[in-house]
Amino acid sequence: MILDLDRRAFVAAGSAALLSGCATTAARRPKLAGCTPLVPVNVNAQRVIRTVAGLRPYREAGFVVRREQLGDKALVHNYGHGGGGITLSWGSSRLATDLGLPGHSGPVAVIGAGALGLTTARLVQEAGFPVTVYAKAMPPHTTSNIAGGQIETAYLYKDEAVTPEWRQQLLKAMDYSWRRWQIMVGDEYGVRWLTTYEETELSGPTPMDPYYPATRTLTAAEHPFPLDHVVRFETMYVETGLFLRQTIRDIQIAGGKFEVREFATPQAIGQLEEKLVFNCTGLGSRDLFGDKDLHPLRGQLAILLPQPEVRYALSGGPGYMFPRPDGIILGGTAERDVFDPNPDPATIERLIARHKRFFSGFRCTATFGTQ
Ligand SMILES: Cc1cc2nc3c(=O)[nH]c(=O)nc-3n(C[C@H](O)[C@H](O)[C@H](O)COP(=O)(O)OP(=O)(O)OC[C@H]3O[C@@H](n4cnc5c(N)ncnc54)[C@H](O)[C@@H]3O)c2cc1C
Repeated sequence: MILDLDRRAFVAAGSAALLSGCATTAARRPKLAGCTPLVPVNVNAQRVIRTVAGLRPYREAGFVVRREQLGDKALVHNYGHGGGGITLSWGSSRLATDLGLPGHSGPVAVIGAGALGLTTARLVQEAGFPVTVYAKAMPPHTTSNIAGGQIETAYLYKDEAVTPEWRQQLLKAMDYSWRRWQIMVGDEYGVRWLTTYEETELSGPTPMDPYYPATRTLTAAEHPFPLDHVVRFETMYVETGLFLRQTIRDIQIAGGKFEVREFATPQAIGQLEEKLVFNCTGLGSRDLFGDKDLHPLRGQLAILLPQPEVRYALSGGPGYMFPRPDGIILGGTAERDVFDPNPDPATIERLIARHKRFFSGFRCTATFGTQ
C-alpha cells in the first residue's frame, strides 16, 4: 500500500510467513490467555457474490485542483485522486469550488458523475448556483462505484514527487472531507464508523494523525491476528453505491440536471453555454486534457456474502477486508498502467486464497454476539 504522508510505516514483509501459527477451527472457543477473539470472515469461493476491477486515477505528483482559462470560460480541474477519491471527494471539491465560484454568476457545468463530480455539483448548489452534470457514464458505471469506501488516503501519491504547496492542499481537502463525512454518518448515505485493525508500526507524529482517532498499538494479547505489528483505530466507511445514488437524488431535488455526453477535446467543452466548468473526469483527463502523468492503477475486489456479525475492518495482512451491509469486500491489489477494467480470475483466486489462509489462522475466534 502507498500510505504517504501517513504516520504509519506499513509492515509489508513476511505476513504470509506469519500465517501458520496456531490456527483454530472450533466454531467457538473460550478466550485464550494472550489472545482477544474476533469473528473471522468466512472466506471460500462459494461465498463470492461478485468480482470487480477498477482503474484508480493515480498521479505521482498528487491530485490536480487548478483553475485556468479556456476561451471565454473558467475551467477548474478536480481530478487524479488515486485510491483516495472517495475519502477526499468533499474536501477536494471544496478546494475546486473555492477557486471557481467567487465572482461567478449564472449556471455552472460539471463534467463527470463520479464522487468528485457529484460532490462538486452539490457544493455548487449549496452556494446557490444552478448546475448541469455532463458525463460519459453515470453511476453505477463509474470507478467511484467500485471503491471499497474506507476513509483513507492510500495509493494517492509518491512522496518524492509532491510539492509543499500540494501537501497543504491535501491537508485542507482532508480537513473538510473529514468534517463532511461525519455529518453524513447513518443509513441514508451508508456512512459508518468502524474499528479498524492495521498491520503497521507507528513511526512518530504526522499531520494526518487527527484522521486516525483512538489509535493504539496493540499487544499480541489484544487481538487474534497472526501478525507481529497491529495498530487499532477508528475510521469511517462509505457504502459507495448508496452514497452516489443518494447524492444524485440530492442534486436532482435541488433542481440539478444530468446529461449523458462524452467530450473528446477541450474545444468541445468550449461549446458549452456555461461560463464556469469543473473538470471531474478522473482517469478521463489523461486523454481529454493530455495529462500523461495520470496512470491507471488497477485494483481488484472479491465481494463475499454479507456477514453482519463481522464488525471490524482490516488493512494489511492478506490485503484488506471491509465489511459492508452489501457484502464483505476483500481487496488490496494495485497494478500500474493496466488499462483493462476487468478482473483477472488468477489474481482474484490468489486474493481469496490469501484471505482464506489469514482468517483461518486466527489465534482464537469468537462467534456472533461474543466479541
Ligand atoms: C478497487 C478500488 C478500491 C478503492 N477503494 C477506495 C477506498 O477505499 N477509499 C477511497 O477513498 N477511494 C478508493 N478508491 C479510489 C476511488 O474509487 C477513486 O479515487 C475515485 O472513484 C475517483 O473518482 P472520480 O470522480 O475522479 O472518477 P470516476 O468515478 O471515474 O468518475 C469520472 C466521471 O467522469 C466521466 N468522464 C470521464 N471522461 C469523460 C469524458 N471525456 N467526457 C465526459 N465524461 C467523462 C466518467 O464517465 C465518470 O462519470 C478505490 C478504487 C478502486 C479501483
